[in-house]
Amino acid sequence: MKISDKISDHRTLSFEIFPPKGDLPLDEAYRVAAAVAETKPDWISVTYSAGGSGSTGNTVPVAQRIEEVLDVTALAHLTCMGATRADIDDRMSQLKAAGIANVLALRGDPRPDVKVMDYVHASDLIRHLRSAWPELCIGAACYPEGHIESATEKESMEATYAKQEEGADFLVTQLFFDNEDFYRFRERCLRYRIKLPIIAGIMPFTSVKQIQRMAFNCGASIPAKVVKRLVQAGSDPLDQAKAGMEYACEQLVDLAENGVDGIHVYSMNRPQVAQSARAALLGCGYLSN
Ligand code: FAD
Repeated sequence: MKISDKISDHRTLSFEIFPPKGDLPLDEAYRVAAAVAETKPDWISVTYSAGGSGSTGNTVPVAQRIEEVLDVTALAHLTCMGATRADIDDRMSQLKAAGIANVLALRGDPRPDVKVMDYVHASDLIRHLRSAWPELCIGAACYPEGHIESATEKESMEATYAKQEEGADFLVTQLFFDNEDFYRFRERCLRYRIKLPIIAGIMPFTSVKQIQRMAFNCGASIPAKVVKRLVQAGSDPLDQAKAGMEYACEQLVDLAENGVDGIHVYSMNRPQVAQSARAALLGCGYLSN
């Protein structure tokens, strides 16, 4: 089923998992997908990692398993950094053969050893996908705090607008730790004539190290209230992860109360994250069952 149909029907809840790297067995990913599927999400997205980690080949079988065996809609991520048009067409043929109707079209992160080939920006990929596969449901990334490479807010917003104009059906945000950033972004979208549904992406922090990595990788700011939670949690990694999940649940409830189009939780292969998110959203009435 198309994700755009789900979004226009109700406020959605979805989760993200990542497939194993290289030749590692798929069993663990299947186990994680099955456990996440038990929380009855609207869809499960499966990341795609071009180059380095070599997990490109594993996105399709994991997404196919989610659709065919678990009977849950899958959203397959697809990046175009370093890809030729033939590469994209080949990956798309695999996805179509696997029965995948939903793709998150991304550029991918730049790497010194990967040369730009036929696509410079995600919007170039979206243009190609929309014309070659008109029926495909296409999601795209957006950045409440601006993309890390964008010099100005305007640049980041114009790139988001281009995704809409090239045919994206919905947007999923980069993670953010302060909901006010998301609410301001929603207002900015209106000013930039971006009308696509915006799915808010939330990642529970798990440790000081992880949150620092996130801040440097994607430019997410760490508000003082998060720092306080981490300090109060102390040095035990379990306590830090518990504080992260509690904080994320507060973000989810606040988003639910502020009329979000949908919520995507970066569950990072931790089914208990999906369970806690679902419980929080049931508790506040965002989900009905
Ligand atoms: P783009 O839209 O191409 O943007 C990249 C930069 O170029 C931005 O600074 C933008 O402002 C600028 N730009 C865009 N268009 C133009 C233009 N026409 N003129 C000038 N500047 C322009 N990465 C993975 O490798 N695998 C994944 O599975 C994955 N999943 C993700 C899921 C989500 C929800 C998000 C938010 C990110 C994900 N990423 C993933 C990371 C993503 O690939 C990076 O954030 C990447 O740096 C940018 O991707 P993009 O699709 O937004 O690129």
